[in-house]
Amino acid sequence: MIYLVGSGPGDPGLFTVKGVECLRRADVVVYDRLAPGTLLAYAHPEAELVYVGKKPGNPSMSQEEINALLVKLGRVGKTVVRLKGGDPYVFGRGGEEACVLVEAGLPFEVVPGVTSGIAAPAYAGIPVTHRNVATSVAFITGHEDPTKGQQDVDWKRLANGAETLVLYMGVGRLREISSELISSGRDPETPVACVRWGTLPEQETVTGTLTDITDRVEEAGLKPPAITVIGDVVSLRDEGLDWFERKPLFGRRIVVTRARAQAGELSRELETLGAEVFEFPTIEIKPLEDFGPLDEAISGLDSFDWIVFTSVNGVESFVERLRYHGRDLRAVPRWSKIAAIGPATALKVEGAGLRVDVTPEEYKAEALIGALTEDSLAGKKVLIPRAKVAREILPQKLREAGAEVVVPPAYESVPSSEGKERLKEMLDNGQIACVTFTASSTVENFVRAFGRETGRLLSEARVACIGPITAETARSRGLRVDAEAGEYTIPGLANAVVGLLATDDMVKKGG
Ligand code: SAH
Repeated sequence: MIYLVGSGPGDPGLFTVKGVECLRRADVVVYDRLAPGTLLAYAHPEAELVYVGKKPGNPSMSQEEINALLVKLGRVGKTVVRLKGGDPYVFGRGGEEACVLVEAGLPFEVVPGVTSGIAAPAYAGIPVTHRNVATSVAFITGHEDPTKGQQDVDWKRLANGAETLVLYMGVGRLREISSELISSGRDPETPVACVRWGTLPEQETVTGTLTDITDRVEEAGLKPPAITVIGDVVSLRDEGLDWFERKPLFGRRIVVTRARAQAGELSRELETLGAEVFEFPTIEIKPLEDFGPLDEAISGLDSFDWIVFTSVNGVESFVERLRYHGRDLRAVPRWSKIAAIGPATALKVEGAGLRVDVTPEEYKAEALIGALTEDSLAGKKVLIPRAKVAREILPQKLREAGAEVVVPPAYESVPSSEGKERLKEMLDNGQIACVTFTASSTVENFVRAFGRETGRLLSEARVACIGPITAETARSRGLRVDAEAGEYTIPGLANAVVGLLATDDMVKKGG
């Protein structure tokens, strides 16, 4: 079976549920440049991924070769996803591929995608139809040169054939197309918008009229891929409909330094606020070489009065190890109480099926100590499954309060410098608005990765830390800390970033 699947315009959230199902099932995924790479994560880890390029001007593989590849894969009985940008049947040559499959007698299905000609305008604040403004819309390829005699696009008829005109691939020929439309009778003052990389954090919109849009696009240096919308609907953008570009972190690139396995939460939070996130996995979670102490604790689980989790990874690796021994959470004795350092950790514990008895008001070790010592800890036994290298303060204070504390390593976080060169380049070019730190270890690893250059690299980017301990570590390493979260949580940190960058903006605007 060959699935011709539309990937949507770029925002991975605009991919269809059916598309995800197809990707999960595929043996082979054949994908284009405009299909967002993040979607490939839905494919089976063993699936073969074939990039067939399609950069304008230099197709890595010709359409004929792609067709032949699909037929070849289909003939040997593979389940194939042909992943194409936007919708496969809108200027995507999906129809040609389908025809070839029919000819070869191979079964296929089409999974439509959200086309960029509708999505990019929507994210730029432009509805392509609107009551009393536009009752029709035409999708047009701008690929052809209207000054050439022989052409497929009938500009004369189109100029007034639909109220809204949406041009794909039209940036390079904007001047010829606009003048052709004007000379065919379209009002020269018709509003026009060009939207580059629509629905993505890099989205850029340039507006004007048929008369001046080409100059404006050239001034702004706007390059493909872009959608051009022509028609009165473009004016709606100025009436407050440009929701996407108004997001507080829109257009900002922010570095998230977290363990790879759990960078997700902060990244998602920042992306929701409109930011483009660059994850620099300064720490990577690794399984331990020696599980001895954790295994011992697990086999004696009945003896613990408290189980304390200080990180999401702690919960995950503990639960995983229980499973490894063929056990599950019923192994946790009914009488033992559970504490979590903060809401994300608590959520993970509860997601695993256990209730959390204690979460401190302030999400750090010191506060957890306060919460745990509210009742006497004398003679109590406490288990803290956590990172191999971690701060000593928690076990130490609990011991001082009379508890017997067992601290088996449950996982190991190791420095990793994946993406280092790319990040350095972006910091050097002033393309990073802010670098975030969520734990002292992320600071240490960042400094280790960039060494003496750290200070210089961070001279333009802002630095935000999740709380006072992390900030202290940053300062002690010679970093300037521009913001600290008021509440030591991921949303708290995201808020701090928004506040920090908004203040910068105000200062800039005020001169
Ligand atoms: N099948 C695709 C279109 C492929 S043609 C679809 O349905 O969207 C390639 C053209 O699509 C580009 O030249 C550009 O005009 C447009 N395009 C694709 N993705 C875009 C995006 N995210 N923002 C703006 N234009 C985009």
